[in-house]
Order: sequence, then structure tokens, then C-alpha cells
Amino acid sequence: MKYVILLILAALVIRYLFKKPKAPKATKPVAEVLRQDPVCGVYVQEHKELSLSTGSGRVYFCSKECMNRFKERTPS
Ligand SMILES: [Zn+2]
Repeated sequence: MKYVILLILAALVIRYLFKKPKAPKATKPVAEVLRQDPVCGVYVQEHKELSLSTGSGRVYFCSKECMNRFKERTPS
């Protein structure tokens, strides 16, 4: 059984190597980047004005209300 797994892995690796397109780095379409609002749980698009940088990274909010609530919750 070990060999079967190894063969499958090898096949996957080979496939990956040959399939990999040598295209220039595509920039992520902004519209598809969704962040979860930590206050109400809604998924929102990244918006600089409705975001805060925290110790564990940047968080995004659906509204200023949520941002303010988050600020109240986590005094820093
Ligand atoms: Zn919200």
C-alpha cells in the first residue's frame, strides 16, 4: 500500500509541475477579497476607512458602528 500512495503523490507532483503556467503574477481582483467583520460576522470588501490594524493583523468592518464597537471591546 505504501507504494501506491507514493505513486499517487509522484503523479500529483508531476502533474503540478507540468501544469504550472509560467504566467506573470496576476494581481488579486480586489472585488473577491472578502474579510469577516469581527463584530457582526458579515463578510465585507476591504475598505481602508473601515479598518483597524490590531496586534494580529488588519481587521475590516461593515460600518463605522461596528468599528467603534470593536474599539470599545479592545482598548489598546
Ligand atoms: Zn458589522
